[in-house]
Amino acid sequence: MSKSKYQPGNFKLKVKRATPGAGLGLYADQDLPKGVCIIEYFGRTLSLAEEYTSRSKYLFEINSKKTIDGGTRANIARYINHSCRPNAEVEIIKGRVFIMAKRFIKAGEEIAYDYGKEYWNEHIKPLGCRCVKCGEKK
Ligand SMILES: [Zn+2]
Repeated sequence: MSKSKYQPGNFKLKVKRATPGAGLGLYADQDLPKGVCIIEYFGRTLSLAEEYTSRSKYLFEINSKKTIDGGTRANIARYINHSCRPNAEVEIIKGRVFIMAKRFIKAGEEIAYDYGKEYWNEHIKPLGCRCVKCGEKK
């Protein structure tokens, strides 16, 4: 593993709303080459007790022993939305969470990754998935 691969590039990213009333998302403000490390999703590691009691919307379960709370404002990766046809993907390296470009991402595109089946069934399906792929079917 090369060290530089998981070093987030100093890319221009922007937090904004796709349309008025929609939630915030994270957007590329420049072209992002395929395979680059876009950003790290970081936060405080929760204690075991907190894993059960935390009401944070930004919990990220890294493995069965480690969950982080990405709710800190500095963690702009928390604005990345779910997509069933994602342009980014998560790689967990030594307990850290990196968001990688799955393909070339054009400037202005929203960055999204797949939150996973379990999360989708529990939190997204009940509200109706609003990703590009699911939106097409309607
Ligand atoms: Zn979807």
